[in-house]
Amino acid sequence: MSLPKIEVPRYKCVLPVSQIEVSYRPFLVGEQKTLLVAQEGDDNQNSVSEIIRLLQACTEGDVDLISLPAPDVEYLFIKIRVASVGETSKMQLSCNQEDCNEMTVVELELDKVEIESDNNSNIVELTEGLSIELSPPNLFELAKIEEKVQQNSGIIVRGSEVSFQVLNKYISKVINEDEIITRDDFSDEELDVFLEGLTLDMLDKISKYLEGQPKLVLNLNYQCSKCDKMIEQKLSGIQNFFG
Ligand SMILES: [Zn+2]
Repeated sequence: MSLPKIEVPRYKCVLPVSQIEVSYRPFLVGEQKTLLVAQEGDDNQNSVSEIIRLLQACTEGDVDLISLPAPDVEYLFIKIRVASVGETSKMQLSCNQEDCNEMTVVELELDKVEIESDNNSNIVELTEGLSIELSPPNLFELAKIEEKVQQNSGIIVRGSEVSFQVLNKYISKVINEDEIITRDDFSDEELDVFLEGLTLDMLDKISKYLEGQPKLVLNLNYQCSKCDKMIEQKLSGIQNFFG
């Protein structure tokens, strides 16, 4: 006698940045195990590959997850996670009142994640006639940058100081008067030379843009277990949604 085939439910969502509609199913038990191993892995790029591979297996159609902006992939991960193990995740968060700092266990409602962005355009005007177009790197490029930065024990964005490694991946076009120079027209090295020639004021404009990039956020409102104050807090970045 053969065992029955298990019907897996399917869901749909629209990825908030690219506006692409995807159909997905929950993680299966075997995948859940792989996922835990990938999340605990030390090797950033391998973990990203493994997570993308699992997400791709759960997604129908030919959506190329690798080329999507990172917040979309994070959003999809949350959606599939919600469909697989439920809408909540528990986190210990510290009270923001001075003299309290008590840790409170907060139940996060993952279904309420949203994308926040301060940018209306992806063009930054450096000076009259000279602009650059910035496009968010995908997860692989981000993982590569993070790995490099970890090796150099630097920090990616520190105040208004932005690492050139990050910038190099963000710039997709340089627009000089009527001339549009795309990323295929110049090498990483040429771009580094261009970046080193920027004024601090220009770098500041780019930093502001990068700070306003779309990101996955979860707005929280909870009561501290010790001082009873209501605390409003914004969690940003998927790694901060799971305790
Ligand atoms: Zn408190």
